[in-house]
Amino acid sequence: MQDGSLTDVRVVPASFGPLRGASGNARVTGPCGDTMEFWIHVEHGRIVRTTFTTDGCGHSTLAGSACARLAENETLEEAMRIGQEDVLAAVGGLPEESHHCALLAANTLKQAVVDYSRRQTRREEKAEPEACSRSRERDNLGAQTARPEEGPHESEERQALKRRLGHIQHKMLVLSGKGGVGKSTLAVNLAVSLLLAGKRVGLLDVDLHGPSVPRMLKLEGASVEVRDGAILPVVKAGLKVMSIGFLLSDPNGAVIWRGPMKARVIEQFLRDVEWGDLDYLVIDSPPGTGDEPLSVCQLVDDADGAVIVTTPQDVATANVRRSVRFCQDLHLSVLGVVENMSGFVCPACRAVTPVFGSGGGERMALEMGVPFLGRIPLDPALTKAGDEGFPFSYHYGWSETGHAMERVIAPLLALPERPSRGEDIEERRSK
Ligand code: ADP
Repeated sequence: MQDGSLTDVRVVPASFGPLRGASGNARVTGPCGDTMEFWIHVEHGRIVRTTFTTDGCGHSTLAGSACARLAENETLEEAMRIGQEDVLAAVGGLPEESHHCALLAANTLKQAVVDYSRRQTRREEKAEPEACSRSRERDNLGAQTARPEEGPHESEERQALKRRLGHIQHKMLVLSGKGGVGKSTLAVNLAVSLLLAGKRVGLLDVDLHGPSVPRMLKLEGASVEVRDGAILPVVKAGLKVMSIGFLLSDPNGAVIWRGPMKARVIEQFLRDVEWGDLDYLVIDSPPGTGDEPLSVCQLVDDADGAVIVTTPQDVATANVRRSVRFCQDLHLSVLGVVENMSGFVCPACRAVTPVFGSGGGERMALEMGVPFLGRIPLDPALTKAGDEGFPFSYHYGWSETGHAMERVIAPLLALPERPSRGEDIEERRSK
């Protein structure tokens, strides 16, 4: 550690405490339970003053203080790029069990920048009320037009679904050719990584037969609230979560759904959850290419695309090709293929051994003309994280597997702004 004033945690840093008249502010509770709050003051696109508070330990204070110093005099874009590693380097290192303090600091700062941007947008919207109401009318137009094949009730239901999902900028489906390949693991970690990048994120688990998201986020037994006829998602550390498992009396028991009931349940579930405004909705879809994922893809007809999760063994079978073709038939973009459980990480020396071979996913993606997002090794720490209910990306972001996960997720974080929803859907339909 380099800076004496920083390492002595009894000294309260000058940047500790609320900032009056701040132009951006955010408070984030990490999965560790610590709450950090950041205030930023922005002038001419540059952060001129940053302060923070934390109810965490001394390491949390060190991380907050270092992150506040890093942000000062930076542009908003530069501040958004400050990550866990930068904070750790600025502190001069922290014990491994406190690395999450650096991540929480960087994430809270990002949220404060996002808050500043939101306030700016609101200010601009107030300045242009007429232009805004015109663009809202245009957005609603697509939802209000009934299709010729629809009855009035169906059209009403479709419009209700569209209204609910209309406040979400990006929707991504996580698919797999079969169960057990790590689809839910990727969905959970993708959602958490997006959240850590300062996005407003929802995670929807529509796997009727094996809803595993509640277990992976330690939310088993969470009760959902129903308000004004809508189901409210459960919120954990800022992440909005809804799983079909929350609505089952025994999420571990086998549920026998009759065919038409499945589609009905999926539709009702998608339509009745009130997400509010979100930057991203990650949908953990049922596995395979049968009726259930088909219902999900058809109902969420303006998704950005699908991430297909596979394993090296799965590549050898026809499963992945079938998933890619399934998306192509539905005009759903394939955002990329992820090869999970690719090589084994030795828990002692962390060396990676390619037990089932690797590289097949990349070859297959190349052959089928879809992007390959990368490989994630089989890591016992990842199994433990899933079983014990703590998000791997948050607690093990520093590890080799954490970096592999980060590389896979990076392109999904940089999805381009969506065109007006109505236009987009019509364009896809006419293809
Ligand atoms: P799916 O959603 O495809 O059925 P899950 O995400 O539920 O699969 O994963 C199945 C099991 O494998 C879980 O116990 C999960 O923790 C574990 N798992 C997934 N990916 C990995 C990995 N890369 N390394 C170790 N365990 C993993």
